[in-house]
Amino acid sequence: MISKPEDYYRSDAFQRIKSFADKQETPCVIVDTQTFSRQLDELMENFPFAKVYYAIKANPAVELLTILRDRGCNFDVASRYELDKVLALGVTGDRISYGNTIKKAADIRYFYENGVRLFATDSEADLRVLAKAAPGSKVFIRILTEGSQTADWPLSRKFGCQTDMAMDLCLLARDLGLVPYGVSFHVGSQQRDIGAWDSAIAKVKVIFERMLEEDGIQLKMINLGGGFPANYISRTNELHTYAEEITRYLHEDFGDDLPEIILEPGRSLVANAGILVSEVVLVSRKDRNSLHRWVFTDVGKFGGLIETMDESIKYPLYVEKLGELEEVVLAGPTCDSADILYEDYKYALPLNLAAGDRIYWFSTGAYTTTYSAIEFNGFPPLKSFCI
Ligand SMILES: *Cc1c(COP(=O)(O)O)cnc(C)c1O
Repeated sequence: MISKPEDYYRSDAFQRIKSFADKQETPCVIVDTQTFSRQLDELMENFPFAKVYYAIKANPAVELLTILRDRGCNFDVASRYELDKVLALGVTGDRISYGNTIKKAADIRYFYENGVRLFATDSEADLRVLAKAAPGSKVFIRILTEGSQTADWPLSRKFGCQTDMAMDLCLLARDLGLVPYGVSFHVGSQQRDIGAWDSAIAKVKVIFERMLEEDGIQLKMINLGGGFPANYISRTNELHTYAEEITRYLHEDFGDDLPEIILEPGRSLVANAGILVSEVVLVSRKDRNSLHRWVFTDVGKFGGLIETMDESIKYPLYVEKLGELEEVVLAGPTCDSADILYEDYKYALPLNLAAGDRIYWFSTGAYTTTYSAIEFNGFPPLKSFCI
């Protein structure tokens, strides 16, 4: 794992990407498949007991899905469109979970018809639809977790239910002829506090124990979600530290014989493999005595960098020019004043930076192409390449 921005541009991956990017127009994201495969190796080595269900929304590039397919991975799918994409690659329904708790009956039926038998849920209404549209399927109940304060991109509030309701849903699932199979959570994306998994796993243990003791239901699976880190400016622990700690929490609560363990990585697999290349469009000052410049680039919030919202994700940046540095406000190219990327956090860029210079945004392989608008101000969606 590369931990310092300086290390990126000394890396072979950067050189590979840069020589490819030199022939491309900006903006574009280039994902290095060697780095992606290495990230996948690292995850699988660190969690040898877990099954990987890739969260497709992080980056649905066919080249990446193909690598995952060939490595025997599974897929966490959130819509029928993502489903079509993996089915087209020959992935069968038994390697897919429908991980979205918000779904239409017709879509559930479509998944079921295509052989999917594993579904997430967090509500009675959804469970009743599942019982009709996907009879006899395995369901896992998503629970609410804490950790939104320490995740750079929290996901926790919208999905999941309280522990008591999770237990009610297990019972109802059984009564409706479904298989109450396990419990899932997501502690928030780019979760910097490993302890967030500890409290979530402790909640799962309570559910497992009570379901068995009080209702004779033996749950079989824990889905630990995503949340594993990529290398941005705010530091995190290394993946192996996450793995060691999480493995310890699991054994503390579940003993030697762990239930089936599922991981749903997105960001941690693909972010570090990608570099977004943009070009400076304009450098200006708003006032004669201003102590900082505004640097406008040809990528912004609507071109794929929406995770700069509230300056949540701070990507390491690199420009080739050397020289005296000065702080800047960084903004995108569109006619929307929300299209300012970083204003509180000031990146220092060289004083001689000028229109036409390129900016390399590291760790942008995840949540960029999928978030890019399709035609705002006429700008086309963010181009993406896998090399
Ligand atoms: C987005 C998402 C993930 C991926 O999370 P990362 O933090 O990117 O690894 C996993 N599971 C579910 C249900 C998700 O919605």
